[in-house]
Amino acid sequence: MKINPIRWALHWQIFFALLLALVLGCSILPSLEPTAAAKVEQICNFLGQLFMNALKMLIVPLIVASIISGVMHLGANKGVGRMSLKTFLYYSLSGAAAILVGLILVNVIGPGRVDSETATALLGQASTTAENEGLLSKVEGRNSSDLFDIFLRMFPSNIVDAAADNGKLLGVITFSILFGAFIGVLPPNLRKAQTDFWDSTQVVMLKLTNFIIRFVPIGVIGLVTPVLYHAPFGDLLGAIALFFLTVLLALVFHIVINLGLALRLLGKVNPYTHFRQMTPVLLTAFSTASSSATLPLTIETVEQRANVSKKTCAFTLPLGATVNMDGTALYECVVVLFIAQLYAATGQVALDLGQQLLVVLLALMTSIGVAGIPAASLVAIAVILPAVGLPVEAIGVVWITDRLLDMCRTTVNVFSDTVGAVVIAKSEGEQPYAPTVKS
Ligand code: ASP
Repeated sequence: MKINPIRWALHWQIFFALLLALVLGCSILPSLEPTAAAKVEQICNFLGQLFMNALKMLIVPLIVASIISGVMHLGANKGVGRMSLKTFLYYSLSGAAAILVGLILVNVIGPGRVDSETATALLGQASTTAENEGLLSKVEGRNSSDLFDIFLRMFPSNIVDAAADNGKLLGVITFSILFGAFIGVLPPNLRKAQTDFWDSTQVVMLKLTNFIIRFVPIGVIGLVTPVLYHAPFGDLLGAIALFFLTVLLALVFHIVINLGLALRLLGKVNPYTHFRQMTPVLLTAFSTASSSATLPLTIETVEQRANVSKKTCAFTLPLGATVNMDGTALYECVVVLFIAQLYAATGQVALDLGQQLLVVLLALMTSIGVAGIPAASLVAIAVILPAVGLPVEAIGVVWITDRLLDMCRTTVNVFSDTVGAVVIAKSEGEQPYAPTVKS
């Protein structure tokens, strides 16, 4: 019997790539001589970077082409307004539900309710880590006034500059939505030239995406092996381990219960079917820890496998990858409350209910501004900590687990985007997962 991995379904290929990364990162690399291990790691880093670059290269042209071609078919005013409202509603509610789960679990489990000695040691270590890792320079100068930045970023003064900066995709999205909407007001002869151009550009971008996506398994090995090789499994003890588990449990609860209910009640879709169909997207989000880098695959998969129309995908998914961050919002809330519990354990003041609600609100708002790239939520956490009277250096407490939890929260961020696309498609009269959906 011949085994040909190229013919396996993509999710199996990615799954085996992850297994291979696990064996390489946790067993083979640690048993090699340091110089040989460094060589293998260098090759992995190269492959991972190459793959991330290839994915990122697709993002701007894909977003622009798919949003413009999607929105221009929505009809100039009514369609865009209605869909924006629903999308906004879904994003706010799913984010709020995620944060509430985090809030409840971190209060019930209380990973930071340790004795005062442990808390002092952890917090002391945190400041050193924050300094050593240069975390403070990354997050310094951030405060709650950064929230207004989100609105400013929606209208960048220079669209080329916004397109060139990974963190400014929101501006590119606003521009593309407006551009697509205004194609609708052109006279028929000019409109045809525009619709033909953008429709065909989108097809080219999707074909190109399809091609690059074939290399996901190689990218996964390159990206995940070094992470697992350096993963601080040995340091996952006590309070940090409990914090890690609290985040994981909350993320799983949100995916299974909250998003599962949204799929079943609003999308009229079997959550298990959706989860299974989205596996390649989820595994890629997990491996890259970046919603933006996963976006090309998300668009292609939701369109092809869930039968959501091109225009709904084009409208909801790029926006979702940039502003809908359930996992991130939940994570921000748990981190801030965990740090607050540690401070309370050292005998300093604990957060009262009002302050906890402020954390919830800030987590929801700042998660909108978090870029879909690895470790981006640290900046948002640095906005929330001083707002509730906690020092920014405490962010170092969660640094050692950040990458692993980043992979997990990004998976939830992206899954929620796909659920949003299905729910909104259903509300627009489409039949997700029915074989005969027209775009
Ligand atoms: N890495 C996350 C994402 O891309 C953002 C974050 O929480 O840091 O979705």
